[in-house]
Order: sequence, then C-alpha cells, then structure tokens
Amino acid sequence: MKGSFAVAMRAIRNVVNLDASIVTNIVVCSENFRFLKQYIDVLVQARVSKTIFLFIVPEGNALRNSSLIPALPEVIPYVQDAVDYANIKGVYPALTFFPFCALDPYYISYAAEAYMPDRFKDPEAFSARRHRPPQCLRCACYRLCPGVWEAYYTLHSFCFKPFPVRRRSVGSRHK
Ligand code: SF4
Repeated sequence: MKGSFAVAMRAIRNVVNLDASIVTNIVVCSENFRFLKQYIDVLVQARVSKTIFLFIVPEGNALRNSSLIPALPEVIPYVQDAVDYANIKGVYPALTFFPFCALDPYYISYAAEAYMPDRFKDPEAFSARRHRPPQCLRCACYRLCPGVWEAYYTLHSFCFKPFPVRRRSVGSRHK
C-alpha cells in the first residue's frame, strides 16, 4: 500500500523513542537477497539493533509464486556479507531456516536453531515437511539443523554435506 513504508518507519521510531527494543524479521527471497546491506542501513537509520534473516518458507503464496524462492547457494554469500555488515553497523543479526551445511562454519553460530536449541530441539516435531535424506540422519547437526523443506528440494535440489559425528575412541574412555 502506498505510504505504508513511511508509516512503519514512523511507528518504529516512536517505539524506539520509548526505549523499547525492537527485533525486525526479513524474509529472504529472490526479490531482496541482493539488497540485505541496504536493509541494514535502513535499520541503522531507524535505530533498530536486532534483526532476523529468515529464509523463505515454500508454502502458500510463496509456493504459488515459486520464482520468489531463490537457490540457497546463490543467496548464502549475500546473507553472510549482510551478517558481517550488520555487525560492523551495530545491528545484532540472527539467521533461521538456513541448513547449517550451506553456511560457512563461522555463521552457524548466528543460526537461531543453534543458540535456541530448546525451541528447535526435535526436527521431526518442528516440521514433518522437511526433506530428510540419509545424509542428514548421520550428520552431527541433525538434532538442531532445520535442513531444507521438501518443496524447496523439489524446486532446487540441495547438496547435503553432513558434519561428521565425533565418537570417543576406546582409549579416551579411560582418561
Ligand atoms: S547434512 Fe542435513 S542435518 Fe547436516 S547440516 Fe546439512 S542439512 Fe543439516
């Protein structure tokens, strides 16, 4: 709707002026993933100090307009750059719905699923609509990682790279 951006910005400023903390969410899709740094600039302008990047969920209208759903390998470099940029600009970033093995290891610590394990501890309960190939079942991150949605896999496929499960050696038990 025309003018709604200005209205939203005014509302945010009003809340920030009351010393309340605001967390914004952005659904990362084909339309915006190249402009995430500009989005951070807008947050800085509005004095918003926390934001969550959510990878688009391929359901409902998003699935009906599947061109909105980008391929993860194309998106991830922009998301990681935006995380770095947000840190420089004093905005605390978090990620959600990004499979851990698609991220460079440093960025996994920004995944809400990793640092809020109680919320996401059971992937089966979290969503039955996830694509769970055998590679995920033998991955060290299986209990926390959101993986990819079944509909995403149908659209773009995905190269799963499981993290090795560390096993204690027989000798280490006696240390
Ligand atoms: S292999 Fe599966 S469970 Fe492991 S990080 Fe990748 S998507 Fe997540």
